[in-house]
Amino acid sequence: MSKSPSLLDRLNKARVASTPEVADRAKRGLMAYAGAQDNAQKALAELADGTAATGIGRLGLTTMAPTGLACAQGCAFCCILSGADGGTITESEAGALHAALSPLAGQPDGRDWHPKACPSLDPETRKCRAYDARPVICRAYVSTDVDACKSVSEGQAVPGPGTLGPYHTYLAAIGLSRAALKGTRRVATYALARVAAAAVEGQSLDDALAVARHKPTELDAELKRSKRDVSRA
Ligand code: SF4
Ligand code: SF4
Repeated sequence: MSKSPSLLDRLNKARVASTPEVADRAKRGLMAYAGAQDNAQKALAELADGTAATGIGRLGLTTMAPTGLACAQGCAFCCILSGADGGTITESEAGALHAALSPLAGQPDGRDWHPKACPSLDPETRKCRAYDARPVICRAYVSTDVDACKSVSEGQAVPGPGTLGPYHTYLAAIGLSRAALKGTRRVATYALARVAAAAVEGQSLDDALAVARHKPTELDAELKRSKRDVSRA
């Protein structure tokens, strides 16, 4: 009787379209994460909902100490989102964001300050109302120059703002999780802005996930952008 491959075997064989360094870092993180779990079903579930990838991204960020940043709470040009998407997040991040924002349903939100602002934002203080639940993309986006962020928010391509390395590792970890679980579990990504909008409009988590769920090609496109950005750096 053939034995189905273990999760570690599947992770080991998984491939993702990232630079070799980023892919290796993400794979080592996932292998360590899965190897430390006693409960195989829990490990599978946490790979599928992005808990593992999110943990890898957050851990990477906590071990960095970038200097010279202009970032501060209330400085919110980076929370003015282009398009309706707002960035790629995992299912676990979507759930946390929804839980943080649902109690605020019906209150004025970021879009009362700026039409393209993230609905998580407080329109008066311009602080994130889901700060502890903010996704990796929000934690990793930084800048040394507020004026550059303002220019970017107005659609100009200027140097200064960018995402720290752990964001790229996180994305690669989502891609590897998807490859490892192919045919067994769905590993989906979601649009940050749509999850936040659905939550502050009082929609249930299931409805928020349904409206915000990406097609698989969205992760492919984000991985491609990530690889290009890492290669240029
Ligand atoms: S990324 Fe830019 S807009 Fe956002 S907090 Fe940092 S300096 Fe302010
Ligand atoms: S979740 Fe918070 S930090 Fe992230 S874009 Fe929205 S307001 Fe900004």
